[in-house]
Amino acid sequence: MNGYADLLQATQNPWVLFGFLSGFLSVAVFLRYVLIAGGFYVLIWKWTPGFARKIEKATPPPETLRYEFAWSALSSLIFGVFGSAGFILWEKGFTRVYLDWNQYGALYPWFSLALLMFLHDAYFYWVHRLMHVPKIFRRIHRVHHESKNPSPWAAFSFHWAEAILEAAILPALILIVPVHPAILVIFLTTMTFLGVINHLGYEIYPRWFFRMPGNRFLISASNHHLHHSRVRYNYGLYFTWWDYWFGTHDSQDSAKLKS
Ligand SMILES: [Zn+2]
Ligand SMILES: [Zn+2]
Repeated sequence: MNGYADLLQATQNPWVLFGFLSGFLSVAVFLRYVLIAGGFYVLIWKWTPGFARKIEKATPPPETLRYEFAWSALSSLIFGVFGSAGFILWEKGFTRVYLDWNQYGALYPWFSLALLMFLHDAYFYWVHRLMHVPKIFRRIHRVHHESKNPSPWAAFSFHWAEAILEAAILPALILIVPVHPAILVIFLTTMTFLGVINHLGYEIYPRWFFRMPGNRFLISASNHHLHHSRVRYNYGLYFTWWDYWFGTHDSQDSAKLKS
């Protein structure tokens, strides 16, 4: 990366560069969160189109939304720092990031996207189970569960220690999975989209969508809402299979929104 080398020369000090990169990426992550969470907030909460089915009658008070926003802003900062660490690992040649789209075949980038989502979901499920160990829950994960009836702003509403654990997966993934930068951007944007949809407070996927074979393995707002209201079930991020495999899946309350 010539640009990076030029920047390093301009700043001289690698820590200054690390700080600069972290700041830049944190702002980018935060703006992406504001744009996606804010977009859904206006579209679904303010305009409420006919297809959106509200999961709970009650609406959370503005203080809860501000609380979710504040923790999400801190998480964005932490995600940016880890993004910057990933970038430096790449620049130092430690990662499997590659630039030639066809290096592993034209279809490989899409396979790598599916693989990243599978691995991230597995990591999230087990970290999330760990977060529910009572001592850890009380100290850390309680922040996320302050939102018993979440809003789109809750997507990144994590205690800083949980945000660090969640962010650590990104540099780890690019150390082991060959990935094109464009796929990384698509992956991280999809993560933000689905994180917001999971906390939407409204079910927006059509009923027929849940009747299609295989789609019971996809997490939607009603699935994750149940995690916030009943706590002991539905720990996944994108897929429900870990919940099925380990007996933590429950679709009881949300069934009416899906059928
Ligand atoms: Zn939880
Ligand atoms: Zn949640």
